[in-house]
Amino acid sequence: MKKSELETMRRSFDTVKSRSSLIKDSPSIKRLTSRVQEIKKYSFDNKEELFNQVLESFRRNDIECRFAETSKDALNIIDELIDEYDAKVIAKAKSNTLGEIGLKDHLDIDVVETDLGDRILQLKKVDNKPVHPTGPASHLNISDIAGIVNESLDVDVDPQPRQIMRAVRGDVLNRLKNARVGISGANSIASEEGSVVMVHNEGNISIVSLMDLHIIVAGIDKIVPTLEDAISVVKLETVFATGNFVTSYMNVVSGPSKTADIEKKLIKNMYGAERVVVILLDNGRSQAIEECLYCIGCGNCIVHCPVYNAVGNEFGFNNYLGGRGVAMSKFIEDDETCFNSGLYMCTLCGLCTLNCPLSIPTNEILENMRKLSADVGFYPRVHGMIKDNVDKRDSPY
Ligand code: SF4
Repeated sequence: MKKSELETMRRSFDTVKSRSSLIKDSPSIKRLTSRVQEIKKYSFDNKEELFNQVLESFRRNDIECRFAETSKDALNIIDELIDEYDAKVIAKAKSNTLGEIGLKDHLDIDVVETDLGDRILQLKKVDNKPVHPTGPASHLNISDIAGIVNESLDVDVDPQPRQIMRAVRGDVLNRLKNARVGISGANSIASEEGSVVMVHNEGNISIVSLMDLHIIVAGIDKIVPTLEDAISVVKLETVFATGNFVTSYMNVVSGPSKTADIEKKLIKNMYGAERVVVILLDNGRSQAIEECLYCIGCGNCIVHCPVYNAVGNEFGFNNYLGGRGVAMSKFIEDDETCFNSGLYMCTLCGLCTLNCPLSIPTNEILENMRKLSADVGFYPRVHGMIKDNVDKRDSPY
């Protein structure tokens, strides 16, 4: 990342820090934090039971559910669905899981990002990795953004937020005129009710869920016991990601759009999707360390991480930024990816753990992973020289 981008990112992070510091220590948020810690621990301990229950609940709610063991499986399922609808354009909402499976690179149709930050990055075309799970473009200043929008949309907006927003919104809605397929991730899934919870501020997930087919791709770690639990998770995520108590919108999808208002005959697709398909993705999660799966994706660890603040998104894996992303890369990909994602960049200071609402011990996890990584031959060259010296001369020198 450029020096100017890092500076803008740090300023944005400071804003989130000061906003969330005003509410995260309030008694109600402390209670919520403890509750979500219990929910995530319970969900991990009872993952098979919850998984089976959610399959049954989705079936009852007329939500089609498919299991994808790998990214490739998920992409194959998406390909099949897109072919069925003969889709040339799809509306996409922000999702780390869709980044994880490499959806945009895989599809050769027009995948339109509906989130403003993601759309700006999409228009940027190069060096366009997000820097924060909920503020993907928070490293770009307004002049950069206006330049990107003007060049790619052939418009002439001033570096003025409202003008930029209007230009991007107009273009997105125009592109989506004939779209029939929407795709999103999920913030949380309620097993008992068979409901998918998604939070957003822009209203864009509502657009995505109004397409004829709504595909939702979610990691199996998103499943929690009940709707109350799912809402607790997303509320805590909102507090730590944005410093607000709640987002403008919270969509709960528990089935296709339907009505029985005419002679009690059930018909689908009144305003929203006629078909909802949830793809539950494993992709290494069943091999992952328990605590890594507690993550609610708030990004507070990277906001406070000294390494991330210094180097930006080169510390992390794909859309999973910072140390927790590095840790997950070992399970999603392999030891080599984990090493190349910044396994040895971490200072092991533990600020991530201190600032994580789930107290995920990312620094300890990475320290242990270094031992395992060294055992299979992935360690910094200079460490290798020390090791060789010890082997040859009983001395590191
Ligand atoms: S590791 Fe913790 S702080 Fe970081 S994104 Fe996950 S829940 Fe948030």
